Amino acid sequence: MSEHSCTITPVGIIRSCYREKFGIPRQPGLAASARARLVLTGKSNCPEAVAGLEAFSHLWIQFLFHQTQNDGWRPTVRPPRLGGTKRVGVFATRSTHRPNPLGLSLVKLEGIHQKNAQVWLELSGIDLLDQTPVVDIKPYLPWADSVDSAEAGFAPTEPDDHPVWFTDQALELCHHYEEKNGQPLQQLIVEVLSQDPRPAYLKKRLREDYGILLWEYNIRWRVTETGFEVFAIEAGH
Ligand code: SAH
Repeated sequence: MSEHSCTITPVGIIRSCYREKFGIPRQPGLAASARARLVLTGKSNCPEAVAGLEAFSHLWIQFLFHQTQNDGWRPTVRPPRLGGTKRVGVFATRSTHRPNPLGLSLVKLEGIHQKNAQVWLELSGIDLLDQTPVVDIKPYLPWADSVDSAEAGFAPTEPDDHPVWFTDQALELCHHYEEKNGQPLQQLIVEVLSQDPRPAYLKKRLREDYGILLWEYNIRWRVTETGFEVFAIEAGH
């Protein structure tokens, strides 16, 4: 190990509504209804370590891109924002494939809880896969961390929204599962699909069927001329 290397031990693990990579928005905050639990682990699992954090509304979460960490990286990548055709330097992107597999997300803190000997944080607006190891938590400081005059290169504004609608049958099921689980499933589906989760190379196709896993539900949807139609919701995944 070189002089400036160090070993990083996760401080917690994410339990998230996103059970697979497909469908996760490309940044946090784009799907405000996306919820996760950050379960503290090891020595970090103690109430003292989060004392005072409840007074902050937003947090920076640093995490490991654990699912892609063994895929390697290249000095240039093709961001979806540029249609997947133009290359820019990896450090000019928020790509998951980087020299060190570290991610950084600004999320909303919904609450801090403790039961028996377990401490966890409830988060929303996340873009984190289920089981993501978290390596650090820091409070967001608006006066230091937000810059009104900042320029954002090839991603200057939020991506466009696409229209999303449900068939009557899918909507009925959605409401049924919402009552059962107390999760804002309909809103989450709309927020996730309106981002157009399709990879750039599939965007020219019409009437294609897709499935996205949210919580334990497989959300089945298809592409039409005017937007995305949710036509079925299957439970039990
Ligand atoms: N806000 C973070 C992540 C941006 S990339 C940052 O800027 O560093 C967002 C993508 O990360 C999502 O679309 C999702 O597919 C992917 N992702 C989330 N958690 C992951 C994980 N644990 N392993 C690999 N990829 C993950």
